[in-house]
Amino acid sequence: MEAWRRALDGPVSAFPIEKAGPAHIATLKTIDPPLAALEGRRLSGAQRRAKRLLFPTDDGELVLLVHLMTAGRLRYLPAGEKGPKTPAFRLRFQGGAELVLTEAGKKKRAGVWLLTPEEAESELAHLGPEALGLGAQRLGEILATESRRLHSLLRDQRVIAGIGRAWANEILHAARLSPYALSKDVTPEEVERLAAAIDTELERGLELRERGANDKRTYRVHTALDEPCYVCGTPIARVDFEEHTIYYCPDCQTAGRVLKDRRLSRLLR
Ligand SMILES: [Zn+2]
Repeated sequence: MEAWRRALDGPVSAFPIEKAGPAHIATLKTIDPPLAALEGRRLSGAQRRAKRLLFPTDDGELVLLVHLMTAGRLRYLPAGEKGPKTPAFRLRFQGGAELVLTEAGKKKRAGVWLLTPEEAESELAHLGPEALGLGAQRLGEILATESRRLHSLLRDQRVIAGIGRAWANEILHAARLSPYALSKDVTPEEVERLAAAIDTELERGLELRERGANDKRTYRVHTALDEPCYVCGTPIARVDFEEHTIYYCPDCQTAGRVLKDRRLSRLLR
């Protein structure tokens, strides 16, 4: 992301914006101010916060925020270079250069927000530190602050930014930790394992996505119900927890214990 930011910083500020859009309906997350508010303004450059790229206008009134998720790509096309026919989002600059967002696959997950600087600030204020490269020491501090089940904690963007439910499944499996384990019960050795699993799994995911791999090839545990665990061959199990479905290996992660549906047990209590 930092390499992209550097590559875009100069070019995006070279010319004022001539036309903002079109944007795919699932990609543009805001309606007010309208995209057309960007037209005639010049961007001051590219900034980065975790995985989000920020493009403030040089008059300080608007911020274009782009989140690429896993499959989004942002490219600067110099004048005359042919771009994709149906980008998820496009900015055309005076003189003909374009900033183009494309997303591989059918699912549109990447997002574009047009915000005031105050809105951008509050949008970013709640974000926890970026998951990739977090490290065992920082992770240990985070886990020690509150007692929560690991799967839920890992997915909470206010605590750690960048892990969704699929990667929470993959990471906990790679770390051989129960999704229901409480964050305060995790030993230092387990924290090391979890920090390492966050990096190796997210890096594995990025690499596969860059090569265009689909979900089936990317996930080894997530949605792999009854398929053999890639470590021990035990069929992958599934349990509903809060609003999410967790996938896990009962042998590698829970010492043979089958996790109970927390929602159901709550109802029965
Ligand atoms: Zn296993």
